[in-house]
Amino acid sequence: MGHFVRAAFVAVGSELLRTPRLDTNSLRVGEKLAGRGVVLVEKRCVPDEVAAIARAVEELLARADLVLLSGGLGPTADDVTREGVAQALGRKLTLDEGILGQLEDRYRRLGRTMPSIARRMAYVLEGADVLANPRGTAPGLWLSLGSQAVVLLPGVPEELDTILTLHVLPRVTGRPFLVRTLRVAGRFESEVEQRVAPLYPRFGREKITILASRGTVDLVLGAETPEELAQMDQAFSEVLQDDLFGRDEATLAQVVLEALKERRWLLATAESCTGGLVGSLLTQVPGASEAYLGGVVCYANSLKARLVGVPEDLLTTYGAVSRQVAEALALGARRLGAQCGLAITGIAGPGGGSAEKPVGTVHMAVATPHHVEHRLYRFGGSRQTVRELAANFALDLLRRTLKGAP
Ligand code: AMP
Ligand code: MG
Repeated sequence: MGHFVRAAFVAVGSELLRTPRLDTNSLRVGEKLAGRGVVLVEKRCVPDEVAAIARAVEELLARADLVLLSGGLGPTADDVTREGVAQALGRKLTLDEGILGQLEDRYRRLGRTMPSIARRMAYVLEGADVLANPRGTAPGLWLSLGSQAVVLLPGVPEELDTILTLHVLPRVTGRPFLVRTLRVAGRFESEVEQRVAPLYPRFGREKITILASRGTVDLVLGAETPEELAQMDQAFSEVLQDDLFGRDEATLAQVVLEALKERRWLLATAESCTGGLVGSLLTQVPGASEAYLGGVVCYANSLKARLVGVPEDLLTTYGAVSRQVAEALALGARRLGAQCGLAITGIAGPGGGSAEKPVGTVHMAVATPHHVEHRLYRFGGSRQTVRELAANFALDLLRRTLKGAP
């Protein structure tokens, strides 16, 4: 059992650098270590070369107390991870008779004679513990170095996963690390950053991560104790106020549907440039039918008029992408039999923009039994980015309207 705070990971394999194959082992290792309170501070990919592996181990031992490597433990000539680590640490590799016997047994059970090259898998770093591999041939190795350790794991993901769970995690404890995500909508990343930055000195900037996706911003808070996490949550929530829509796994669609159900209101949508994205987000939530009636994808003006009842003169006077048409669409959606109507009309691009209405111009509106809310945005980015931003900002407009409505 060892107490470790900072871990580093090395994915060994030339194929990870020279072909489209992805290193997924680091994701698995990072996730599982985090569960034990050990943070991954760096990860690297290196080719199947003794010198590159040795250099990575030397450099990472200078800044991490647990260094894990995956890959390059097999029988073939390009599997040189043992040799690389041996060189970095100045250790010998010695033949382990126990492993050799097991390898011979395994080949015998498979009805094959063991090729002589497979003997390489029976070599062990001087002083290392052998980590049995119930899913494959090459065992893992654990080498303790005082307060540090180096761990060699097979590259095959399911073998790595098994050895990690059976033999590595039980030997590892770190610092308890609690995480909470505060979910923000209706704001852009830089606005959120500006608002919360004054709190950084109080809690430590490295404990807060901002992750933006299209239309939502996540503030990930890390803490060492439940008390610290509660204090952070309280301080950041106060600053974020109504921009905060939920925590951890909450989605905008879920929150909106809950708010509708609370009021016993039904929702209908009229979507133009988002082509049903809002409907798709809402219907991802189980039980959406209790509050969401459905909607119209009214891409052409003819459908805006015929199916949603937008007056023709509004379309000709103001154009389809206008406040007047967005509001008429939201009111029209209500007439589909809902208390609440949500509408989006905009220019997703890449063509179709003008000086007055550039690409990214999106009008959205929410109609309730009491009033109509409208917003105009100028989103940047590709066609898909504009569409996703529009869908999430519209859901957020609905969320805010439901919060404020009587
Ligand atoms: P190796 O142990 O280096 O012979 O790797 C065996 C197999 O495991 C490779 O052919 C890859 O398919 C897979 N593999 C190796 N390293 C990784 C990694 N970092 N992430 C995902 N798969 C890997
Ligand atoms: Mg390999």
